[in-house]
Amino acid sequence: TKEKSLNFIEQIIEEDIKNGLPTEKLHFRFPPEPNGYLHLGHASSICLNFGLGLKYNAPVNLRFDDTNPSKEEQEFVDAIKYDVEWLGYKWANEVYASDYFQQLYDWAVQMIKEDKAYVDSQTSEEMAQQKGTPSTVGEDSPYRNRSVEENLDLFERMKNGEFDEGSHILRAKISMSAKNMLMRDPIMYRIMKKDHHRTKDQWCIYPMYDWAHGESDYIESISHSFCTLEFLPHRELYNWFLDQVVEEQNIRPKQREFARRNLSHTVVSKRKLAKLVAEGYVTGWDDPRMSTISGLRRRGYTPASIKNYAETIGIAKRDNLIDVSLLEFCVREDLNKIAPRVMAVLDPVKLVITNYPEGKEEWLEAENNPEEEVMTYREVPFSKELYIEREDFKEEANNKFFRLTIGKEVRLKNAYIIKGEGVVKDENGRITEIHVTYDPDSRSGSGTEASKRKVKGTIHWVSVPHAIEAEVRIYDRLFTNENPDGNKEVDFLEYINPNSLEIVKGYLEPSLKTASEGDKFQFQRLGYFCVDKESTDGALVFNKTVGLRDTWAK
Ligand code: ATP
Ligand code: MG
Ligand code: MG
Repeated sequence: TKEKSLNFIEQIIEEDIKNGLPTEKLHFRFPPEPNGYLHLGHASSICLNFGLGLKYNAPVNLRFDDTNPSKEEQEFVDAIKYDVEWLGYKWANEVYASDYFQQLYDWAVQMIKEDKAYVDSQTSEEMAQQKGTPSTVGEDSPYRNRSVEENLDLFERMKNGEFDEGSHILRAKISMSAKNMLMRDPIMYRIMKKDHHRTKDQWCIYPMYDWAHGESDYIESISHSFCTLEFLPHRELYNWFLDQVVEEQNIRPKQREFARRNLSHTVVSKRKLAKLVAEGYVTGWDDPRMSTISGLRRRGYTPASIKNYAETIGIAKRDNLIDVSLLEFCVREDLNKIAPRVMAVLDPVKLVITNYPEGKEEWLEAENNPEEEVMTYREVPFSKELYIEREDFKEEANNKFFRLTIGKEVRLKNAYIIKGEGVVKDENGRITEIHVTYDPDSRSGSGTEASKRKVKGTIHWVSVPHAIEAEVRIYDRLFTNENPDGNKEVDFLEYINPNSLEIVKGYLEPSLKTASEGDKFQFQRLGYFCVDKESTDGALVFNKTVGLRDTWAK
């Protein structure tokens, strides 16, 4: 078999191994900020990092980047853990940037002593004005040359809560003329008088991302710190901060960047997803229309389908928009293998078999899934009155219509051949009943000559007296625009699809009575559906996961 070629991230690792990095030193991490639920973009990062862990038999930390207490919550921590586990990955250590607050503080004190950091007491507007532009040099803060003693004193008092938010910050002393704007004396700490979901009121100064992230990687002996492309300009700062603390005998983490993955007709950004939730465009983070992992799970996506999607799009160096039909292809492929086939009618019209005995019922054998290695069967009830889909019948039709018409034959799935005879209509001309006759010798699987007779079409049905009712939720894209995030002039909310949810009453074969939350089925000829969490014994609720047709060109 052909070796799969290495992606550029794997090439970086292989190169490091070749240059002497022992493979047992490989160590990765997935570092979400617990300020929202994970989305499909995160799934790419999870599959990348945990996939490398499996490939190189290396530990992967689940690190919560919890340095901003104003947006972070325990609810999000719990949801993130649940989602990563659900995808099937095991982290080596559950760790938190907040575990390192004391160490980070001690290092900052050391930097002040080495004249590498200072307390600035200007307003943020003043500091912004001094920053300059990439083509001009910045201006030094009037506080840049504070004495070490004064800096130590102020920094300690910041920590002790003596000052108001915004009155002082700690800055790294790098250069106000660096080409890279991020290097112009970046902020390391700000005062925030907010309780943290883990450290409560222990701290009232919090480290900035750039200061905390690389040092957290270092503390955990992470060998490779993979992040998305927007952090490329941060790499220089990441390295500068490491230079202040790294000791030679320890692993020095390496930051490398890969492209963000965006999905068409949706948004993958926690901030935007949070807005959809807060403003009521969806029912919650796990609304089945959301690009969150929890939304996809509720919609009927499987871990295998999401991993397969992430694997298929792979790792890239440039940001790009992935067509949602690829994601749909991946779930369809998995559900085709695992989802039992059942019959359900979502837009019913009554069909009466005029020559079928009144009051008779038969239980017919039906295949559960033709993809099974060892075929299993269930029984479905058949009777004189059935529901079929309204669109499966036309009074008159041309030769291309392979469903039911007057005077022509079709097969009822798992049952008999029937022939259209006539219709009953209401005063508005709408068909209320279709009358047919059946061929009693044509039962599927009975072995008779008539059962082997070829007719052009096969349609699905459910028996009226046996059918169970269910609420069926059918989803469309949440955004009408392919790239709702792509136009900086237009707010993404303007592209909301007002008709992204349609609720219908469905009639299902009775085997579905015992279906429970998360169970997945193929409603034959209609698509894949799963039982929603709001489903109860008396009132089943199904979500449509995806239709049957493969619209993604391979
Ligand atoms: P968001 O903008 O949605 O808040 P984020 O990058 O701020 O995303 P984090 O919780 O910080 O969210 O992300 C954790 C990890 O997931 C980071 O390493 C980040 O680079 C990665 N990640 C986030 N979004 C994507 C994406 N669309 N594609 C690939 N990786 C992503
Ligand atoms: Mg982030
Ligand atoms: Mg973010």
